[in-house]
Amino acid sequence: MQQQKIVAVLLPTPFEAFDYVTCSEDVTVGEWVQVSFRHRGMIGVVVGIKVKSDVPLEKLKEIQAFLPFPPLQEAFLTYIQRVSAYTLSPMGSVFKMVGLPSKEFSKLADQFGPRCPSSEGHKRSAFFKEAITLTSPQSLIAQDYAKAILQQEFQPFLLEGITGSGKTEVYLKGVAHALEAGKNVLILLPEISLAKGWCVRFEKYFNFSPTVWHSGLTPKQKREAFREILLGTAHVVVGARSALFLPLNNIGLVIVDEEHEGSYKQDSTVLYNARDMAVMRAQQEKCPLILSSATPSLETLNNVAMGRYHHHHLTERFGEATLPKIDIIDMNQQNLEKGQVISEALLAGIKKHVDNGQQAFVFLNRRGYAPTLFCPKCQTVKECPKCHVSVVYHKHNNKALCHHCGYEETYKKHCSGCQEETDWIHFGAGVEKVAEELEKRLPGKVVRVLSSDTLTTDAKLKENLDAIQNGEVDVIVGTQTMAKGHHFPNLTFVGILNADPDQTPYDLRANEKLFQTLHQVAGRAGRAHLKGEVCIQSYQPHHPILRAVYDMDHERFVAAELEMRRKMGLPPHGHLTALLISAKTEKAAADMAHALSRSFYGLSDQQGIQLLGPTPAPIAKVNTWYRWRILLKSKREQRHQGLLQRWLAGIVVPRDVKLQVDVDPHFFA
Ligand code: ADP
Ligand code: ZN
Repeated sequence: MQQQKIVAVLLPTPFEAFDYVTCSEDVTVGEWVQVSFRHRGMIGVVVGIKVKSDVPLEKLKEIQAFLPFPPLQEAFLTYIQRVSAYTLSPMGSVFKMVGLPSKEFSKLADQFGPRCPSSEGHKRSAFFKEAITLTSPQSLIAQDYAKAILQQEFQPFLLEGITGSGKTEVYLKGVAHALEAGKNVLILLPEISLAKGWCVRFEKYFNFSPTVWHSGLTPKQKREAFREILLGTAHVVVGARSALFLPLNNIGLVIVDEEHEGSYKQDSTVLYNARDMAVMRAQQEKCPLILSSATPSLETLNNVAMGRYHHHHLTERFGEATLPKIDIIDMNQQNLEKGQVISEALLAGIKKHVDNGQQAFVFLNRRGYAPTLFCPKCQTVKECPKCHVSVVYHKHNNKALCHHCGYEETYKKHCSGCQEETDWIHFGAGVEKVAEELEKRLPGKVVRVLSSDTLTTDAKLKENLDAIQNGEVDVIVGTQTMAKGHHFPNLTFVGILNADPDQTPYDLRANEKLFQTLHQVAGRAGRAHLKGEVCIQSYQPHHPILRAVYDMDHERFVAAELEMRRKMGLPPHGHLTALLISAKTEKAAADMAHALSRSFYGLSDQQGIQLLGPTPAPIAKVNTWYRWRILLKSKREQRHQGLLQRWLAGIVVPRDVKLQVDVDPHFFA
């Protein structure tokens, strides 16, 4: 009889590896296999070959099949393990983010041909179309990248530079150096809507298209991309945060564009910050890493200050482009008509530029028409039936929407509070209401709303971007979605509404994000040869954040903010982990939260970690789940995952309760 081997197989399930047996002689770590798990076929990867199992041998199931894919490399498997340990999530949950669902892997296996013989050496020279010529400060930076790529060591670089200073050009030169050195490159973008434009820029210099990866691809497109990666024919992979978990081999450079972006923070199953996990990936691959940003995060700047990251700074815009002129409007001094939100000064600014044949962008980070529907009869706010938050009125499709759980209903005059017909008062303003006001006050001008509600498909995004490029739109009213990355040469005026600090009390980075957003939005104005103007409306025009934006002085803002964080022991001067306890009844959530807290205080040594709470979450109910919170806080040098892992391993979570662990949380709502 053949000798059976015991192997540990990692599966896309929220657990660690499971033991299976096989008679295959030459099974190796990293191999792709098909097994039966809970009576279903599932694709996994061998992560260990064992001498014995905790499960009796006769109970172990046999591996059903080996897939024809090249095995995952050890560095990549170690990476999965490190992400799991860092985020306090099971390895299986991290593995689930690798590429495709089991069903798709099976399809890919069926189509998978033999490996083509590699003709690498000859092909690389054909990669280049046009040389990237840099200015001399840009070129010095790219030379440092070239050196680091050849050294094949982990070296993190911060590439800081105002919008339009040529950061993209510089890191594309880095990509060229890596390709010349025979290496592959992984690039992360904060928004999938930016991928198309990014590829166009890439293809100006390179003779091939990068492999694109994000959640918007069809299963077929994903299979094709994954196939290229497995075969080693993908050399440049660009994508959203999920691209981190692609088994691209031979990586010589990792780039994170707009590293400060909050969208890098994943908020589903495994909670991770793609920027930080990119740093880890580069460490694992032993290669340099470029973090690019106009307004780097405090974490990254702190790493620069501690001497852990190299720092390059581009201080001038490329060519004739100059920084915009900024005006701040004190909204306390304005006599607006009821319901209006646009000041005379801002309106005049738009008029001046638009009458000149140029374009204006009005930024308000609020989707829909009005964030609050108020019933004047019973004096109540219309709430989502499943969450403790108010619904948002969207006029374009006549709906009342919950931005937390996605609940929607047709807007009607009936109030469920008083059970009567009512004339809702539309409190506050979203982009739709602003657009309506602008259409009234700018007769004959074309105003268009661009938000995640209107840019739902690639085709719609393209249609809108084309319309703007072709000058068919005078004024764009947009949310954050529009503020990022897009380059409109004829856009010379930017108006920013509601630039008031402390709008998001449950986000310790609220000030930082406000500064970054204001800076980024202001940077949309006048990127080509036309001079830009920016007008900011605020009720706190003398607030230090607004003064720093006015002076375009990021350093001053950062110094003040870091000092505040230091005093309060908050990141980057300390570590936080947030626990979210959810249950279908308030009592079950509260009981679990208190049990967690008691068990924490029962530990013999808490290693200086402070437990805050438990308390009901600021948003106490979302999608019919009641929520409680606990926050764990520790001093800078102490990462506290080790203790938390041991503590949480001993916790039994009842079936009707969910416990979510968020290391380095961004929101506590
Ligand atoms: P950032 O990424 O810092 O916002 P970009 O790389 O997008 O800046 O550069 C802004 C504009 O200036 C782009 O249109 C880009 O093509 C141009 N540019 C920057 N540097 C150069 C250069 N060395 N040669 C040619 N064009 C450049
Ligand atoms: Zn809801």
